[in-house]
Amino acid sequence: MQQQAGVLYVVATPIGNLGDLTDRARKVLSEVDLIAAEDTRETRKLLGHFGISGALIAYHEHNETAVTPRLLDALEEGRNLALVSDAGTPLISDPGYTLVAAARSRGLTVTPVPGASAAICALSASGLPSDRFLFLGFPPRGQARRLAWFEAVAREPGTLIIHESGKRVLATLQDIESVLGGSRRLVIARELTKRFETFLTGRAEELMRRLESDEQQRLGEMVVLVEGCPDGDGDARQEECARVLRVLGESLPLSQAAALAARLTGGKKNALYQLGLDLGLGSESDRHPSGTRPGGPRDSG
Ligand code: SAM
Repeated sequence: MQQQAGVLYVVATPIGNLGDLTDRARKVLSEVDLIAAEDTRETRKLLGHFGISGALIAYHEHNETAVTPRLLDALEEGRNLALVSDAGTPLISDPGYTLVAAARSRGLTVTPVPGASAAICALSASGLPSDRFLFLGFPPRGQARRLAWFEAVAREPGTLIIHESGKRVLATLQDIESVLGGSRRLVIARELTKRFETFLTGRAEELMRRLESDEQQRLGEMVVLVEGCPDGDGDARQEECARVLRVLGESLPLSQAAALAARLTGGKKNALYQLGLDLGLGSESDRHPSGTRPGGPRDSG
C-alpha cells in the first residue's frame, strides 16, 4: 500500500511579542516530525519558551536548494513538516518559496498556520489607505537601483509597504522624496508589538528631520509605508482602456472597437473613441469624418 504523504505547515511566529504565537501554531510545532527553521538557534529559543522540543533542520537562503529535495522526500515518506522563519510569516522577505513551490508542484499538501507579519501589522494600524496596497519587501542597496525601484512604482495608487533597517532608512526616505515627491504621507512603524513600538507619521522631509535628530527612532526593526499616487487610479484605468482599444483596434474599425471597449471596461463610448483617436487608431475618415475636415464645408461657416 502506498504511504500517505505528510503535510507541510507554513507557520507564522511572533515578530516581537511572544503572546502572538497562536494556539494552533504551538500545537503544530509540537506535533510535526521536523521543523525547517531559518535559524535553528532562534527557533530553539522560541520553542524552549513554550516547552516544545522538536527536531530542527536549518533551512535558509544559502542552503534551500540543497535541502529542499530532502524535505520533499521526508514529506513523501509521510512525515509532517513545519516551516518557520526567525519572525513573522515565512516567505515574506524570508526563505521558503523554493520549498513551497516544489511541494505544490509535486501535489503535496501545504497549509498555512497564519499569525503575525510585520507588513500587514504595520498597515493595519498606520492610518493609510488599506483597501489597496503593494508590498515591496526590502529596497535594493545601491542608490541607482533604489531610485529605479521607486520609479517603477511611482504611479501605483495603493499604499506602498517597504521593509527597512534603521541603518538605511534615511537614505531610503531621501530617495522616496526625490522620486515620489515630498507631498505624500508616510508612516514609519517601528518595533511593532514590542516595548518601544512607535508610529511616526509625516512627509518625507519631516520624518528625515525627526530621525536625524533622534537616534532612538532609527533603532530596531521598521516598516515604511508610503501613501499611493493620488491620481494613480485614473492613470491605471486609462492605461487599461488604451490596452483594450489597441487590441480591438487591430481588427475592428475604431467605432466598433470603442463600443466593445466601453462594454469591457465600463468606460464611455465617446471618451474611448476620442482616446482611440489620440492613440492614432482608426482610419483617416475616423479622424476627419466627412464635412468635419479642417477647412471643410462645416468648418467654413
Ligand atoms: N517574514 C517577516 C514578517 O512576516 O514579518 C519579515 C521578515 S524580514 C527579513 C524582516 C523585516 O521585517 C525587518 O527588517 C522589518 O522591516 C520588518 N519587521 C520585522 N519585525 C518587525 C517589527 N517588530 N516591527 C517593525 N518591523 C518589523
